[in-house]
Amino acid sequence: MTKLEVLKKYYGYDGFRPGQEIMIDAILEGRDALGIMPTGAGKSICYQVPALMMSGVTLVISPLISLMMDQVKALNQAGVHAAYINSSLTEGQIARALQLAAAGRYKIIYVAPERLETESFLSFAMGAEISMVTVDEAHCISQWGQDFRPSYLKIVRFIEQFSKRPIVSAFTATATQAVKEDIICVLGLIEPQVLVTGFNRENLYFEVRRDQNKDAWLLEYISARSSESGIVYCATRKNVEKVCAFLEDMGIDATRYHAGLSPDERRRNQEDFLYDVKPVMVATNAFGMGIDKSNVRYVIHYNMPQSLENYYQEAGRAGRDGEPSECILLYSAQDVATNQYLIENGKDGQELDEQTRELVLERDRERLKRMTYYCFTSDCLRDYILRYFGEYGSNYCGNCSNCLTQFQEVDVTEAARVLVGCVGSCRQRFGINVILDTVHGANTAKIRGYRMDQNPYYGKLAKVSIPRLRQMLNELLLKDYLTVTNDEYMLVRFTEKSARLLEEDTKLVMKMAKEPERAKASEKKDGDKGKGTAAFLEDGERDLFEALRALRMEIAREEKVPPYIVFSDKTLIQMARLRPGNRNEMLKVSGVGEYKFDKYGNRFLALLKK
Ligand code: ADP
Ligand code: ZN
Repeated sequence: MTKLEVLKKYYGYDGFRPGQEIMIDAILEGRDALGIMPTGAGKSICYQVPALMMSGVTLVISPLISLMMDQVKALNQAGVHAAYINSSLTEGQIARALQLAAAGRYKIIYVAPERLETESFLSFAMGAEISMVTVDEAHCISQWGQDFRPSYLKIVRFIEQFSKRPIVSAFTATATQAVKEDIICVLGLIEPQVLVTGFNRENLYFEVRRDQNKDAWLLEYISARSSESGIVYCATRKNVEKVCAFLEDMGIDATRYHAGLSPDERRRNQEDFLYDVKPVMVATNAFGMGIDKSNVRYVIHYNMPQSLENYYQEAGRAGRDGEPSECILLYSAQDVATNQYLIENGKDGQELDEQTRELVLERDRERLKRMTYYCFTSDCLRDYILRYFGEYGSNYCGNCSNCLTQFQEVDVTEAARVLVGCVGSCRQRFGINVILDTVHGANTAKIRGYRMDQNPYYGKLAKVSIPRLRQMLNELLLKDYLTVTNDEYMLVRFTEKSARLLEEDTKLVMKMAKEPERAKASEKKDGDKGKGTAAFLEDGERDLFEALRALRMEIAREEKVPPYIVFSDKTLIQMARLRPGNRNEMLKVSGVGEYKFDKYGNRFLALLKK
């Protein structure tokens, strides 16, 4: 079979996405490969297709049990023999799986890194024909990455033990240069084919909101989308509990996920979400890695995350099926403080020596700054993200809240001079909040304690609200007129540019938003996008779609897999549109492979006939 035939037969897709072919071809030529592709780009197909075409077995090393189970379920549904070996199995089950593996039963085996050193697994691997070792979530091997896992270092020793070295391929969505170099170097990839695909996700709409009342907005937003799946990320467990309880009280089918729940409850809640029993998941960032539910229509960040890496990864869980989806971040100043606290008191780098640890902290603080600027920029949000990841976007995407907002230009020179003056007069010894409170004329114990109530700039900007002042100060940071130290105190300091502000003919003009025009945003999307979403089906098609969904749910229950593993929403929508009448027509629907057709195609055909 050719690679295209494999794609059609097992996955039901007609063509490869950008980049997939390059990776597949390299692997089939026997080369190592490193794929850096954003969430939802389709990394799995890059190694699964060649795995199916090569003789022997492919081992996929993956950090998370949920991820492995999901992948293996999906593969088995598509008619591929696959298995996983991890701590969720008993020793007996592992022995049995290894026995079957040794007998050549599986083409693809997912394995946790901890397993690689066990006697039983080693003896299987060394005795079998292993064509490729694939390292999923490969950034876990880098100390500079977001989630370094020491167990990933075992992979290196494991590969070294083969007398005939298998092909090594690695995949991640983490794009920074340091991580990329680490992966190549630590894993010992040999002249790998490296592919970095565009990080732009056109179908995602980005928005930042600075509402005073997050709950009210959230409720309104979710209520308007009762049948759609979405994730609400919160910074802390406490917030997860609070927000989830609030939504439930308001009659919304929400569930929750964080590391403080028992494993049993986590699993149950996760399944409720995956199986579309509960459309809304409220969670900390512990939720999501390895969740490839394809029809998540929105990801709301109730709190600002610690870095754009985190933000883009979490937000990227929306719209994996390529349909229009929304990523909305609810900013509040408190979030910055919370994250600062988490950075200073977190476990990041605890095992490192003092010097390295300080470096790690500094890097985290820098990331937090750039994340905060995202919430204040008036440039295209997508562009801001892409630049952060080292890509160049166009300055206007037309699908983010800034591109869709009308701005007015406001001359803020005077206010800026007061802010800079205040920073100077207190000899650059204070952080953002003290500066803002001072110029605003706040009468608090802290301000009195620092004697800032006697500062010449005290109360000079009393008429400007604190959020507005914060916006201005952030603009000064963004434009490099001021900076913030990279230590835990985050003191506001001068830059080389600061003095320029005080010159007679310098003018600082800032774009300030009128209300973002959300109506416009959705109008636009109605027009040229969204052709595949259920919302745009005609009435008759809609009923049919619902009926197809019900059948899918029935099958999912029988097979004990999440509905999207049976068929994606996108596939069902196409079915409702095209109304295939026979096997051939059905196989033309994207996402219907031969194996799946043989399994349930007739049930869907029967329903369509009715
Ligand atoms: P990643 O691991 O990169 O986050 P996945 O491998 O989970 O992404 O793929 C994301 C989604 O895109 C899945 O639903 C997958 O089936 C789908 N997909 C991948 N490749 C193709 C393709 N060539 N054509 C259509 N859909 C695809
Ligand atoms: Zn934009």
